[in-house]
Amino acid sequence: MTTATATKITANKNHPKLPVTPRRNAHFIDGAWVEGDKLIERKSPAHNVLVSLSPEGDVSNVDAAVAAARRTFDDGTWPGTSASERAQLLAKTASLIRENLEELALYDCLESGKPIGQARAEMGGAADTWDYAAGLARTLSGDSYNQLGSDTLGFVMREPVGVIGMITPWNFPLVIISQKLPYALAAGCTAVIKPSEFTSSSTVRLCELLAEAGLPAGVVNCVTGYGDPVGKRIVNHPDVDMVSFTGSTAVGKKTAEACSANLKKVTAELGGKNPVVVFPDADLEAAADAVVLGALFNAGQCCVGGSRLIIHESIAKDFTEKVIELMQRVKVGDPLDDDTQVGAIINDKQHEKILEFIENGKQSATLRLGGESVGEEGLFITPTVFDDVTENMDIAQHEIFGPVLSVLTFKDKAEALRIANGVDYGLSSSVWTTNIDTGMEFARGFKAGTVWMNTYLECPVEVPFGGFKESGIGRENGRFSIEEYTELKTVLLHTGPRTSWFAPRS
Ligand code: NAD
Repeated sequence: MTTATATKITANKNHPKLPVTPRRNAHFIDGAWVEGDKLIERKSPAHNVLVSLSPEGDVSNVDAAVAAARRTFDDGTWPGTSASERAQLLAKTASLIRENLEELALYDCLESGKPIGQARAEMGGAADTWDYAAGLARTLSGDSYNQLGSDTLGFVMREPVGVIGMITPWNFPLVIISQKLPYALAAGCTAVIKPSEFTSSSTVRLCELLAEAGLPAGVVNCVTGYGDPVGKRIVNHPDVDMVSFTGSTAVGKKTAEACSANLKKVTAELGGKNPVVVFPDADLEAAADAVVLGALFNAGQCCVGGSRLIIHESIAKDFTEKVIELMQRVKVGDPLDDDTQVGAIINDKQHEKILEFIENGKQSATLRLGGESVGEEGLFITPTVFDDVTENMDIAQHEIFGPVLSVLTFKDKAEALRIANGVDYGLSSSVWTTNIDTGMEFARGFKAGTVWMNTYLECPVEVPFGGFKESGIGRENGRFSIEEYTELKTVLLHTGPRTSWFAPRS
């Protein structure tokens, strides 16, 4: 049973918040703004209106950016600063993000198609990350070993890794660069950034804010453009010491493979196929609301999206009805409207991919809601629910990255856990129960970097974020995040006369 054909969505092409002229971006290299001949045109996926132009970077742009980052690292321009100076710069950047919140939110809304209200909240979260990293900068410390003998002291220093290449996706543009850059700067590293070709504006604007905050030229550089050649050159450049990548598992694997050639350090935040397990004793009203949020947040284009509902068979029918009823009330529409909850799909390719998964799902499972493309000119897909899904179906195994929920059922805890863990990914998991024993059994049993118990999508900056299995390597946020950008150096110090290897001294 599917709903009647949904009404077409026409985003307002004359919306007062749409720019009259597109924003013109440039590369930020060694403190200067570098234009390019070839420009990437970005149209709002909701309105099909040109909103920004970014230069299509090439290998020479990356090489210039890496040279600046290398110089400002090697001559001590940035690693030579004190923790106090770094903290002040990071805190100032947090304030500037807040002062420019509306403008930054508008760029991410227009370029990605996400609702403006959500984009505003994301900008607040991004600013918080810079503030948190400012605090962390002053806590970074090493270790000492004073029990190695009366003439020996061992100590361990944390040194910044060096030049960090940062490559980011389109789904949370300012949030994701803010999960990398402030921590790397706090550790004393310099950086070359490549934002997604679809959503470059907020990252380029962030570079302007860093300059305004007083960051020395060359410490942070940004090259806009495509994965090949810009991202590829960053990954392969011999003067880049570490790569911090967020994006698809496929490109993440290629990145890690390239880094392994010379054992370059790499962190990778990748895809997910995240389960939400619901037991009959849970607060089912709250659980249904969270399932809808998890499946539809950012139009399902969210690495931690709850794309698999794993529900106890005794309540499956009623609970699924409840979820469908809530989903029908969700406002899908013009991302520039304050009350929109689900906006547009990022681009034609992603739109096609989601519709292909929906067609595939129709062959094996039961379509209960949505499944339709409803944009007049923009790219919109209605909230979609598949019932009667079993473990090995494509829609239960693969990251669809769209507003599509697959409903699976379980008989007992062992089966629920097996289904939850039975995918290649391990980014996040959620369990809903009022029984603390069951909750803890799942918290321990899930093979995932984050477990939400009776909640969903909470990501405070104080706790680490990252994946198990094919969802990634390394962690962002939390106190460990700064350590990702450091190397450990051991120093052994001898005091007093040393016993000669050849002969004792007379
Ligand atoms: P993507 O892998 O296509 O692109 C990510 C970035 O890599 C872009 O900047 C792109 O230009 C660049 N790139 C592409 N090819 C490259 C290459 N050969 N070498 C170097 N760089 C290259 O991903 P996307 O479509 O932008 O983002 C969606 C994916 O990101 C989803 O799979 C999602 O789950 C994942 N994601 C993960 C997290 C997380 O924290 N785990 C967060 C957000 C998104």
